[in-house]
Amino acid sequence: MSEKLDIYGLAAAREGLSNNIIREHGIDGDLTYNLIKDELLLDGNSRQNLSTFCQTWMEDNIHKIMEDCIDKNMIDKDEYPMTAEIEKRCVEMIADLWHSPEPAKTAGCSTTGSSEAAMLGGLAMKFNWRNKRKAEGKPYDKPNIVTGPVQVCWQKFARYFDVEIREVSIEATRLGLDADILSQYVDENTIGVVPTLGVTFTCHYEPVAEICAALDKIQAEKGWDIPVHVDGASGGFIAPFIEPDLVWDFRLARVKSVNASGHKFGLAPLGVGWVVWREWKDMPEDMIFWVNYLGGNMPTFALNFSRPGGQIVAQYYLFNRLGKEGYRTIMQNLYGAAQYIGKEIVKLGDFEIFFDGDPKKGIPAISWTQKADQKNYSLYDLSDRLRMRGWQVAAYSMLPNMQETVIMRLVLRHGFSMNMADMFINDVKRSLEYFEKHPVAVTQTAGEANAHFDHSGR
Ligand SMILES: *Cc1c(COP(=O)(O)O)cnc(C)c1O
Repeated sequence: MSEKLDIYGLAAAREGLSNNIIREHGIDGDLTYNLIKDELLLDGNSRQNLSTFCQTWMEDNIHKIMEDCIDKNMIDKDEYPMTAEIEKRCVEMIADLWHSPEPAKTAGCSTTGSSEAAMLGGLAMKFNWRNKRKAEGKPYDKPNIVTGPVQVCWQKFARYFDVEIREVSIEATRLGLDADILSQYVDENTIGVVPTLGVTFTCHYEPVAEICAALDKIQAEKGWDIPVHVDGASGGFIAPFIEPDLVWDFRLARVKSVNASGHKFGLAPLGVGWVVWREWKDMPEDMIFWVNYLGGNMPTFALNFSRPGGQIVAQYYLFNRLGKEGYRTIMQNLYGAAQYIGKEIVKLGDFEIFFDGDPKKGIPAISWTQKADQKNYSLYDLSDRLRMRGWQVAAYSMLPNMQETVIMRLVLRHGFSMNMADMFINDVKRSLEYFEKHPVAVTQTAGEANAHFDHSGR
């Protein structure tokens, strides 16, 4: 027997972890670590999580960067000037990627994710609209924002910051915001229009250029100069690499700001988003707090104060490590895998493709519906069955007006290989064989759908 007992032989192991009070005395560190790790066994395997949009695979160097930066607070720009400089470089690189006319001078910052970035973009539009209304001597108490079927962060923005949200709903014939519908939704109190590049529910890109053109027409007719903020949470780091000719960004003069999630297709670890304005003048002065550091005058406009710096440094690593070619080839392979899964799924006979993984139309994802004549099982049953093999796949009903449509959706991300695609397909086949032998009573109601999927667009 060694001097030190095996951790699972310690008295403290019999007592286990506390889950309600902080005990007077602590326990052995290795034991605590292992007990917690044991509990985490019940978490799903993130690599098999095909519902999330966020990154689940990282190179070793990213792990090292996160470790190197674990003690750095990105807000301490005086103490960690190089991290601050790296954030600034990332903003310039992203502004250039999105074709800002002045990438080196424009406004932008890192955030905790697209949600915070969207709040900042929304607030800037609210402030700009209010300042203009004030200058014109007009009332400014009823701001509204016009969106397609948005991610929940925009509903939060509207409620938290007292803006009416006018959400264009999904219809079977129209997947959300488009140029034709716009004039029914905007008026002189519209602070901005928010198209999404990669809609959570459908995976589609909304037509930003056409929306801008429709707003040009509305301005010519009514005089309302309504800005556009693009929610590029996913697409902002996809389209520029794989569909460079798709015009959705600052090449359109009406697009004044864009947000994207570094931790989605920016390929960085969880905890970083970005918001960038087209030009410095598009960021309202009254949102900016000026802080002195390094003898300069530094603008800040984030909602959070303290935040880890590692994600930002990791983002900078990725931009340098991968280059545009690296991002492009990773995305190409993901679209390839999505389309491959789509083809194999169709061959099984039970399904119809809903989103086909075309890089011109949306993000690297694939989704399908079940043909009406299937009686043995529902997509929810399939989702449950796949879970037995570790796959986490969202099955959910579309938003109101299209609730009878239930889809299964896979979002493919960095680290998803063709071999995994085959593993997945084989497990779908295995599940269908099971349902053949063991039919399940089928119910696919909207209420059930909501119990299965929280619609938050993770
Ligand atoms: C994920 C997502 C968000 C929220 O982004 P977070 O980085 O998770 O805060 C906003 N909009 C869209 C379209 C998204 O896909």
